[in-house]
Amino acid sequence: MRAVILTIGDELLSGITVNTNASFIAGRLTELGIRVARILALPDSEEAIVEALHTAIQDSELTVLTGGLGPTRDDVTQKALCRFFHCGLVFRQDVWDAIVDRFRRMGRDLPESNRVQAEVPEIAEILPNPRGTAPGLYFKHDGRLLFALPGVPYEMKAMMADSVLPRLERLPRSRSVHFHNIHTAGISESGLADLLDGFYARFPETGLAFLPSLSGVTLRLMAEDAPGRPGADLLERARAFVLKKAGEWRYGEKNDTLEQVTGNLLIQKGLSLSVAESCTGGLLSHKLTQIPGSSAYLNRTIVAYSNQAKKDLLGVPASLLEKYGAVSRETAAAMAEGVRKDSGTDLGLSVTGIAGPGGGTVEKPVGLVFTGVSDGARTLVEENRFIQDREVNKERSAYAALNLLRRFVLGKI
Ligand code: ATP
Repeated sequence: MRAVILTIGDELLSGITVNTNASFIAGRLTELGIRVARILALPDSEEAIVEALHTAIQDSELTVLTGGLGPTRDDVTQKALCRFFHCGLVFRQDVWDAIVDRFRRMGRDLPESNRVQAEVPEIAEILPNPRGTAPGLYFKHDGRLLFALPGVPYEMKAMMADSVLPRLERLPRSRSVHFHNIHTAGISESGLADLLDGFYARFPETGLAFLPSLSGVTLRLMAEDAPGRPGADLLERARAFVLKKAGEWRYGEKNDTLEQVTGNLLIQKGLSLSVAESCTGGLLSHKLTQIPGSSAYLNRTIVAYSNQAKKDLLGVPASLLEKYGAVSRETAAAMAEGVRKDSGTDLGLSVTGIAGPGGGTVEKPVGLVFTGVSDGARTLVEENRFIQDREVNKERSAYAALNLLRRFVLGKI
């Protein structure tokens, strides 16, 4: 099955809104083995939408459209759909009741003028919107399928999960594709490519994509079913190969995150943690506390930005700061040891560096970051060299600290 995705909204074309709907829908369709032939971003123009619908329906069996379904003047998708399908609008009592109920639950008055929101193309099947007022619409036309969903990403996602994907899953599949994600941290794409040398020769029928993000590189495996050769088997063999080769650099699979995996490790081992951070300004603490249940292992986090704070709150000796500087192996070690000792936790974790854009020197350039971990008996510091802008450097530093902690707890370093 081939699909076309139409995303509607002037804000997509002026660069104000990133077209995340298109990538989300394309990802879900691809996972179902549906080939996305084209993705279009269109203005809020009835003409443009009708024209795009004509070509989409000619070229593909499935069209998924988002945006412009609301009640405002620039929302012209309904009109375009009626024109395209040569149908009129009808008032739907069930849609109106759902809107009234939603407003009542929010304790808000609903003006009678909002009844237009319950007017929908007469030939459409209604897809409920659990998170908003504009319903989704489902059309079947000459063996072609068309789903029209609201533009608001979280509404669209809920409706994809509740209404669109279940319907598509019931269709006979021309192609069945299997995917598996393996997440790594602390190693570059090229480093991973070296480790996985031989993959393509060994698994010529399995796809392998390198997907870098700020936390690391995700390896995405893809295998298609073929007669007598289930894709799931291919995928499992390739997965075992990648897990072995990626070794200590891989931290998780599927939807795992570095924060979650590291937190789970601490729980499994019954270890408590305290954190001292400088250049990340609390970002590392934020990541750790994003995980529900992190209070089981996290005792405290201290943001010690100035030298004064490093001395006062972490007991970093003035002489050490003077001799080696705040961004140094020695300071990172003293921060991790200091916070651990003061809080009486099993582990202390630290990060200190130069986030940029200013503050760099030839010896200590922007992006130089030290991460440290200590369990009292042993203190380990790693030097990282990031080269991007401030925000990226902070993100990468926080993940580097988490990854150092993970490998330390696992006894890999
Ligand atoms: P509503 O009835 O809630 O207004 P709608 O279908 O009219 O739904 P739009 O007005 O087109 O939706 O868009 C609503 C919001 O969703 C806007 O903030 C818009 O920027 C955002 N949005 C629309 N399309 C996309 C897209 N393709 N990717 C990401 N965000 C989008």
